[in-house]
Amino acid sequence: MRFLICLILLGLSLTSKANPSEDFFILKPGELKFIRTPGQQFSPLAQTTCRDRIRQIMCLVKSTQNPVGTRQCLPGSESFADPVEKIYDILPEKVQKAFCGLDVIYVEEDMEALAYAGIVRQDPTKGVVGSFMGIRKILLEQAYDATSVFGWKEQKAFGIKAPPFVHMPEGPRVEVALPGSLSALQYVMIHEFGHIIDFSNKANDFVCPAGETCKLETGDMAEYQKLVPVPNSWSALSWKNAVTPKDNYHFPLWDNLCFYGCNKSLSVADVEQFYRELAPTNFVTTYAAVSPFEDFAESFTFHVLSLQGDWSYQIQTPQTAYSLDQKWKNTWDKKSWMESFYNQDLRYPTPSN
Ligand SMILES: [Zn+2]
Repeated sequence: MRFLICLILLGLSLTSKANPSEDFFILKPGELKFIRTPGQQFSPLAQTTCRDRIRQIMCLVKSTQNPVGTRQCLPGSESFADPVEKIYDILPEKVQKAFCGLDVIYVEEDMEALAYAGIVRQDPTKGVVGSFMGIRKILLEQAYDATSVFGWKEQKAFGIKAPPFVHMPEGPRVEVALPGSLSALQYVMIHEFGHIIDFSNKANDFVCPAGETCKLETGDMAEYQKLVPVPNSWSALSWKNAVTPKDNYHFPLWDNLCFYGCNKSLSVADVEQFYRELAPTNFVTTYAAVSPFEDFAESFTFHVLSLQGDWSYQIQTPQTAYSLDQKWKNTWDKKSWMESFYNQDLRYPTPSN
């Protein structure tokens, strides 16, 4: 997992394996392959609008959780476009533009994560050509509320195994009210576009420090961990390297933090202490503390939701209530970085066909 992250940073993309702990992919050119349904007439972007293309890029697939390899879009793919179009319609223009660069939105029958996103890494001079997303099918079939979905996800970090999307009484309670009271899909899709926009604009960026030799070709993890955040990059706000937070944000229970494909995780007994330790950091959510990439995608989501209207994200432990939307408002370093990033001329992937 760590190895892949570093490859991503370098744009080497030597492997296409999914990062098991997170929800994004960087593919090599030619690896994103899918066959549309016979009824799905595809129009190049020049001949249609980004919104009209949504129906053409939906692709219901058999479950593999991996976008690599040729995937056949199944009959009925187009019928999943309605909830996605609804999200498109309420998003700010800057996020809507990211739809134009999508080649495909996979509708995944079953997977551990809620969704994933990815890009196809091309020659650095051409920028990103090709991007894609995968969304868990039930999120498109039913308008699950954000409280159920993010409560279920939060509890996963404490080792609670519950059917989707059930909140168990023994875990932390989460309450999320999104602007416009739309379904959890609104948050999920903004988060995934956050990854695509991060990769297209190098929000997270790492470099081998001056005077150091980083022998990345050896594939040795210790060599990758020598890389440090580029000054003024998103990474520089919280991260010592691509894997570990800066010392002042590296709280003790961070070492057991894991959501997906975990070898170790927090337990219910850690709930009170975990949030006490997370509170003084500048990580806006639990998931944001996982890696620089999730940190960006979560913070990007908070920024965009704040543009969309009033909303709230609360976590309640047996002893304490935490307001994450308030935390974001008070996290000046990240909030102001994100505002100026978002207001610049953002780069977007171009679709590969
Ligand atoms: Zn993510």
